Amino acid sequence: MKLGFHGAAGDVTGSCHLIESLGKRILIDCGMRQGSREIDEENAAPFGFDAAAIDFVLVTHAHLDHTGRIPLLYKRGFRGEVVTTRATAELARLVLLDVAHLHEEAASRGGPTTSPGHQAKEPLFSLVDATSSLGLFGRAVDCRQKLEIAPGIQATFYDAGHILGSASILLELNELAGVRTIVFSGDIGNADRPLLRPPEAPASAEFVVMESTYGDRLHKPFPESITEFYDAVTQAISTGGNVLIPTFALDRAQEILFALRQGTEDNRFPPTLPVFVDSPMAVSATEIYKRHPEAYNGKLAEIFAQGKDPFHTPGLQFVRDRADSIHINEVTGGAVIMAGSGMATGGRILHHLRHNLWRENAGVIFVGYAAAGTLARRIIDGAKHVRILGEDIAVRARIRTIGGFSAHADQKELIAWQGSIANKQATFLVHGEQPAMAELAKHLSGPVTIPALHQEFTL
Ligand code: ZN
Repeated sequence: MKLGFHGAAGDVTGSCHLIESLGKRILIDCGMRQGSREIDEENAAPFGFDAAAIDFVLVTHAHLDHTGRIPLLYKRGFRGEVVTTRATAELARLVLLDVAHLHEEAASRGGPTTSPGHQAKEPLFSLVDATSSLGLFGRAVDCRQKLEIAPGIQATFYDAGHILGSASILLELNELAGVRTIVFSGDIGNADRPLLRPPEAPASAEFVVMESTYGDRLHKPFPESITEFYDAVTQAISTGGNVLIPTFALDRAQEILFALRQGTEDNRFPPTLPVFVDSPMAVSATEIYKRHPEAYNGKLAEIFAQGKDPFHTPGLQFVRDRADSIHINEVTGGAVIMAGSGMATGGRILHHLRHNLWRENAGVIFVGYAAAGTLARRIIDGAKHVRILGEDIAVRARIRTIGGFSAHADQKELIAWQGSIANKQATFLVHGEQPAMAELAKHLSGPVTIPALHQEFTL
């Protein structure tokens, strides 16, 4: 078998790995690179293999950095089958149609980026490419079910506990010399996750390809973060302000809703606390979460089995319409407002920040990663004034950052995941920055390789 690394090699985004065996070419993920503006060019660069020659794409989870170039793969000739878990198939539809729409919009404004000086360009892919690629989504499986992808090639998806539907994928290849086994971790979640089952690894695999995002860091325990979260919400509400939570639509939004529900049940909040989920994508994602109890952990499954809605509080309002979103500006205090984007780089959170950030009694709670250069980062770093939608806004609201909501395993959990796999010959580290990979490599068992982009190995 041959293994090629065509994304997330020495980098955190753009996952794309190629296995060639038994005359078939199988991609594990086909993600988009995300980050600064130059990256648009990199996403448009050649894949490093012939898209038309790919037979299968197996998807670990729906995040854009694992699925985002599937429409581009279609555009360049891929006509094979995409195999996912059932929940990933639904979430990927949401993600791919959304990103295609954004690319078309950006292209019509004069280039794939919003930076000035860009000529009008063809989008990376169109809504038609995205829709067509969705037509190639074929078999959708449950975790722990062995699936014969092609003669002699079997795939088993294992819960990865990262977002709904996320999985690690074990391939068993019946080559002439014997059965070869390789597991791809995808993104590994955190064992304390409030909604999903904890990650699990296959008992044995010869080769391991694993993520290393937090390879050099340890997380705070989740219960501590929940207590901090309750305190932050209570504080802002008691002083008469609104609480703004910039929220990622997949998983984070549902975790926050679940935490608000729990807090309401435990009488930490007023029973009718108004909660606005002002994000069409988060609203749709929450509906998809409700349709997939097979992925829930014990506690969540129990609530669901009792016929209760795990994401509902009495004061909850889902907001899809732009006009309804603007109406929320009339609410000057006492409400929780969740909106995207998570790093406040765009989206409806901007107009909520504009209306609340200058109020001393308001609160802003950041519950996710905030990259350098984003508005979220500037506010977290203590800026006294920020520019939002062309206006200079004073930052007077109380700013809180709560780190424990991370969707990724920390160093200890990554080591335990890899350590539990027997018969390893080699481990390849991907999906991490160099320092994190170098540090993690020191603690893993067996030989560890950090592949370069487009590097290939004959195993
Ligand atoms: Zn992910």
